[in-house]
Amino acid sequence: MRTVRTVAALRAELARLRARGQRIALVPTMGAFHAGHLDLMRRAAQDGHAVVVSLFVNPTQFAPGEDLSTYPRDERRDARLAEEAAVSVLFVPDADELYPEGFATTVTVAGPAQGFEGATRPTHFAGVATVVAKLLIAARPDRAVFGQKDAQQVAVIRRMMRDLHLDDVELIVAPIVREPDGLAMSSRNVYLSPTERTAALALSRGLNAAARLAADGERDTARLEGAVSATIAAEPACQLDYVAAVDRDRFHPVPELAGPTVLAVAARVGTTRLIDNVLLPTPPTE
Ligand code: AMP
Repeated sequence: MRTVRTVAALRAELARLRARGQRIALVPTMGAFHAGHLDLMRRAAQDGHAVVVSLFVNPTQFAPGEDLSTYPRDERRDARLAEEAAVSVLFVPDADELYPEGFATTVTVAGPAQGFEGATRPTHFAGVATVVAKLLIAARPDRAVFGQKDAQQVAVIRRMMRDLHLDDVELIVAPIVREPDGLAMSSRNVYLSPTERTAALALSRGLNAAARLAADGERDTARLEGAVSATIAAEPACQLDYVAAVDRDRFHPVPELAGPTVLAVAARVGTTRLIDNVLLPTPPTE
């Protein structure tokens, strides 16, 4: 595995791989790898792709007062895990490399970026869309891999890729990797105290309850959302931010299950904000 820190070095390394006939798969990350990240890397490598992982805690997607300065960082550990996962190139730029003096061009996204995460974190998706566009343009991969864990982010990136003609890149969305007890893996789970860690299970428990209702034929999304909010309300250490059944691609609320629907939830456990979601089964048409 080669570690590169500049776009020029990244491009040189990828040109070398392409000259050997290899296709390239990109996995954008902020590091602090867990099994979810490693699964994305495995999926990226399928069909013989050379994998490039970017490791960059992107400052523009954090608002003032968020956890940019305390976000877990351990490049040595991440590099070891990436190497074990057969990653070919680790791209670790510093902020000046991606946002040099005079940087003045950003991507903004409306549509699926509105509401939910976009309501709580108004500048977040512009930061995400900008850095992902920059990474796609810098690497020009054949495929890019993202996690369903950040369902609204996937909708925003899919829209951005269409709108900016970056959709010649194959977009792969990997399912959520969970701890054995159901907690969705997240680099931010390290912030949870043992009691908060237990309380945090209310998110996946609520989503499971709703998914069971949907599997039993419940189509009314208000009832499905109610199952999640009731589970979270029963956990005093958990403060619900939102729960919503939304169209997977547009991220608009839907009153009934019809097409592909994401049931998304965000809640605070202590000072940590967690998100989780489940894809609900599309009921058969009668
Ligand atoms: P992050 O480093 O948190 O920005 O995440 C990098 C990528 O990993 C994003 O595409 C995330 O959606 C994905 N990811 C994070 N957690 C999980 C998880 N538990 N399961 C699957 N993918 C994940």
